[in-house]
Amino acid sequence: MKYLNRWLPLFLLLTAVSTSLAFAQESSTLSEAEINQKVDSVMQQMTLTDKVGEMTQLTLDTISKDSTKQQQIDEAKLRKVLLDLRVGSILNVGTHAFNRDHWHEIIRKIQDMAVNEKPTHIPVLYGIDSIHGANYVMGSTLFPQEIAMAATWNLNLAKEGARISAYETRAAWIPWTFAPVLGIGREPRWPRFWETFGEDVTLTKKMGRAMVEGFQGDDVSSPYRVTATAKHYLGYSLPESGHDRTNAWIPERRLKEYVIPSFKAAIDAGAHTVMINSGEINGIPIHSSKEILTDLLRDTLGFKGLAVTDWSDIIYLHTRYHTTHNYKESIKVAINAGVDMSMVPYDTRFPTLLKELVEEGKVPMSRINESVRRILRVKFLLGLFDHPYSKDTDYSKFASDEFSQASYQSAAEAITLLKNDNHLLPLSKNQKILVTGPTANKLTYLNGGWSRTWQGADPQYNTPGKKTILDAIRDKIGSENVNFVEGTTIDKPKNVTDVIKTAKQADAAVICVGESTYTEQPGDIADLTLPAAQRDLVKKVSDTGIPVVLIMVEGRPRIVNDIVPNADGILMDYLPGQEGGRATADILFGDQNPSGKLPFTYPRHVDDIVPYDHNYTAEVGPLGYHPQWNFGYGLSYTTFDYSNLQVSQTEFGKGDQLKVSVDITNSGDRAGKEVAQLYVNDLVASVSPAVKKLRDFKKIGLKPGETKTVTFTLSPDDLAFVGRRNKWVTEAGDFKIQIGTLSKTITLKK
Ligand code: BGC
Repeated sequence: MKYLNRWLPLFLLLTAVSTSLAFAQESSTLSEAEINQKVDSVMQQMTLTDKVGEMTQLTLDTISKDSTKQQQIDEAKLRKVLLDLRVGSILNVGTHAFNRDHWHEIIRKIQDMAVNEKPTHIPVLYGIDSIHGANYVMGSTLFPQEIAMAATWNLNLAKEGARISAYETRAAWIPWTFAPVLGIGREPRWPRFWETFGEDVTLTKKMGRAMVEGFQGDDVSSPYRVTATAKHYLGYSLPESGHDRTNAWIPERRLKEYVIPSFKAAIDAGAHTVMINSGEINGIPIHSSKEILTDLLRDTLGFKGLAVTDWSDIIYLHTRYHTTHNYKESIKVAINAGVDMSMVPYDTRFPTLLKELVEEGKVPMSRINESVRRILRVKFLLGLFDHPYSKDTDYSKFASDEFSQASYQSAAEAITLLKNDNHLLPLSKNQKILVTGPTANKLTYLNGGWSRTWQGADPQYNTPGKKTILDAIRDKIGSENVNFVEGTTIDKPKNVTDVIKTAKQADAAVICVGESTYTEQPGDIADLTLPAAQRDLVKKVSDTGIPVVLIMVEGRPRIVNDIVPNADGILMDYLPGQEGGRATADILFGDQNPSGKLPFTYPRHVDDIVPYDHNYTAEVGPLGYHPQWNFGYGLSYTTFDYSNLQVSQTEFGKGDQLKVSVDITNSGDRAGKEVAQLYVNDLVASVSPAVKKLRDFKKIGLKPGETKTVTFTLSPDDLAFVGRRNKWVTEAGDFKIQIGTLSKTITLKK
């Protein structure tokens, strides 16, 4: 026995080395029963210290020599964190991205110490915000942000983008991404609006599901997949003040009908982790809510995975929310409410205080065991016990042209044509173009926040060779035909007289307006109006009499009602990612036909923000309903005619399936893509119904002159709503089915 003990470390080291050398590209899925068995056997070896450590997540800074530069692991700190505190998870990075070699060095050091020296040999679960590509890995493929992915209305693109993000994240040996964001985007002041799929429940559900499938695949232990995180559970995106991490008032009916469904869809699609909302609903911080973290998440939604807090949120129960008297009490409340892992992320007292709480009988051991089992289960599912890192895996597609093409295609299908007077667009390539505006020549603005750094503002991490809008226009029509004068920063005018002079010699102007990069509280905003300096620039250029194309690079709808008349063409670019410049130029000059559709209602006025699926009362009164542009709106360079709307029966009931079909014809002279959007309007209901609700959609491609029939299937459940008693109900009666301008009324029987 002594002999074995002495040689055990070497034996384990050899086993670890040989397993990682033997890391095959194929992996096998373990059954739930096998995982349970494995979890049981690890649990048996764990002390309370091991268990509370497993529930702890610290930031990379806590084990680094220096958090500001290229972080190097500090062995002494790592030893303390892994061997004394037994920490189970590490996250993120300081203020910069690393190349893959550096990531490998970091992950290897962490995992080697965890697997070889921790008494339990449990590998570490490393998590990171790969929200639009492996954004903390230098050179990786950056995709359009979620709001833009939603504007594609193309689920295949969303799934493929997530698959590639998973590949490139795992190529840095990181197995866990904190994405997708599943809150609905109905509060454009909120600085994370662009991290959502927009305002609609159906679109968010389907996009979220596609991303979860793309991240996780059929077998999340594959070295090309990562586990997804359904975040931020629950209600984070609807703060009453519009400020980040503040209270949302959400009645139960709204919670059930608008907020929970996208999380349910992601859980049903198999998302293995959720991240908890940093904010509060109805004055109750979610991190303290047993009703939301246990009763709803576990008992109702059936979630089996692990629930991690957001940044510092247990501490905040005391310091921000003032709902507890001290840190220790906050830990008690949060763990008892159902938190499995605390993104501490700096204060190393967490595991010690949690241990004390267990010893004092204030947190039951059963609660700890439940959380640790969930964490270990995810580690087994990811294959981390066998392969703590993917040393011998081929990642030769990292940053490949194939991956860039997927990002490009997403940007090209996201960009939305909102105005095209007199068919100004596409522009002819034989013209002199003035390019101006603060977003014309900044790659960082195309990428947005969470790009190489948290705020995404530092251009030193840009991938060389990626084009700004200006670069791409120059490439397309020749530098000699393009004059660039910036004209203004985001909010300060700059050489406007030069812009006007140049405009007078140009055939048309492309004015790129919008926002700089931001996320979370640094992006809080007091006024949605596009800054005056940018609006003045548009007016002054338009006053010269040349045609104006406005390009809006922005993560939320900035109010532009006074300059819309000054522009003949308007493209909504959103945050289109690092191929967004190329995609914009291709659309401007007709090498791509735009097919994006707004995933949110674009408001006309700052104080008049009303979503498309409002109740009838929203349309009554002198103001009526008149957003700048409607949800689902977007033009094309061709035209589509809708005809022959058919329903399989005009009456249907329980157990029936209603088939709805429509013919769509490309009646123009260019190939194009169109999104068939199926809306249902409940004509009379016991709670005031929405004027319409999106229930399904399909994106199709059509050649000139071609007609395709698009079919949908509806069941009575698709007509359900949350009724007076806060329960999902279907009510018999008449419903109007609308696709394009066509509609049919059908009757749902008792
Ligand atoms: C954000 C999360 C993110 C986490 C880790 C938090 O501040 O709210 O969305 O996943 O940081 O970076």
